[in-house]
Amino acid sequence: MAYRPNITELQKAGINEKDGLYEFVLTLADGTQCRVFYNRFPEWKMTNINRLLTTPCPVCRKDFICKCMDAFAGDINQQIQDRQLIDKALS
Ligand SMILES: [Zn+2]
Repeated sequence: MAYRPNITELQKAGINEKDGLYEFVLTLADGTQCRVFYNRFPEWKMTNINRLLTTPCPVCRKDFICKCMDAFAGDINQQIQDRQLIDKALS
């Protein structure tokens, strides 16, 4: 588990304001991109993370769907919260 994700950018990709559902695309320092889903009610919570297939997985090197990023969802969510990236992406 030497891999450490480092978010360089979070961009909004879709919003359902009524239901509080938000979709973002995040880019990591190594070029990996992921689609992340949040539900803001009752508080911001990551509900899903999927790696986009734009580059091979930085963990297992597969260029098709894998579940590696699931293991980093907590770390990625923490970075998003600590750096208030959702506020920035939505502003
Ligand atoms: Zn993988």
